[in-house]
Amino acid sequence: MKKLFGRGANSCKRCGRKQALVRKYNIYLCRQCFREIAPDMGFKKYS
Ligand SMILES: [Zn+2]
Repeated sequence: MKKLFGRGANSCKRCGRKQALVRKYNIYLCRQCFREIAPDMGFKKYS
């Protein structure tokens, strides 16, 4: 299943950082990137 994320599921898909990953919605982003793109993805409630 992990192979679906060919680049390694333990790093941010956007910037590659490995800290503070948000994996809640299978998006695999660090919190910083998540906050930036969350509104675009419709997660306006998150902040
Ligand atoms: Zn990131």
